[in-house]
Amino acid sequence: MTQTAAAVPWGRLLPEARQEAVGIVDAACVRLWLGEVAARLEAERDFLTQLDAAIGDADHGVNMHRGFTAVMTKIAGIEPATPGQLLKTTGRTFVSTVGGAAGPLYGTAFLQAGEVLGDHERFGPRLLLDALRASLEGVQRIGAASVGDKTMVDALTPALGAYELELRMGGSLETAASGAREAAAEGMRGTIPLQARKGRASYLGPRSVGHQDPGATSTALMFAALEHAVIADRSQRFAGGARRPVSGS
Ligand code: ADP
Ligand code: MG
Repeated sequence: MTQTAAAVPWGRLLPEARQEAVGIVDAACVRLWLGEVAARLEAERDFLTQLDAAIGDADHGVNMHRGFTAVMTKIAGIEPATPGQLLKTTGRTFVSTVGGAAGPLYGTAFLQAGEVLGDHERFGPRLLLDALRASLEGVQRIGAASVGDKTMVDALTPALGAYELELRMGGSLETAASGAREAAAEGMRGTIPLQARKGRASYLGPRSVGHQDPGATSTALMFAALEHAVIADRSQRFAGGARRPVSGS
């Protein structure tokens, strides 16, 4: 134990410092996440469409799948790319290929997150928190939905809250992503008893009660994919032959 170490409250400082140094997300991890979202959307396309058939116009699964298929093609064509470029490309592709409410809403969310990440080659969990915050702000600026309106905001808001709380408590990127996944799923299930006050489902009034919101469901899917990606990325890096160095800028 060095003198410096003894003088510094490591119990508080070390977890945060380690997260930024070790819990690093780079373009490969972002690609892993986007690929996982695309795969899950393909698997859940019909389910999402069924949910939208009950309280909307039966296109959410098809919309999201079309958007992410276009995203995967587009990002395969930009290599190398920074995490910010990947997310901005995702947002722009979404806006141009997905109509309805979800296109501009998710498009804005990805664009805003990409803006926050800027030109960084890698980022830690705290910048990811800022990116998630900017996504929620973007969604609310465009759609003006609050928690309880039975929209994607009902999954995104608690996910962000859980992610932030976990970081504040000294958690890692993985535990924060895990908390976000759990909170998003809970928020998604919490939309079932709600009456929709925004979007197409609001036209149904009380008849929207008793159905799970499709947008909250796709948001929960994205957080499940994020948790999967950060854990898979970490195990790839640390399992014997690291696929890339973790130190450096
Ligand atoms: P559309 O309703 O135009 O057919 P989608 O079916 O693709 O678009 O997406 C519907 C989802 O969009 C809803 O389930 C809801 O979560 C989300 N949504 C709709 N309006 C809003 C809004 N104003 N703010 C946030 N999310 C919204
Ligand atoms: Mg729809």
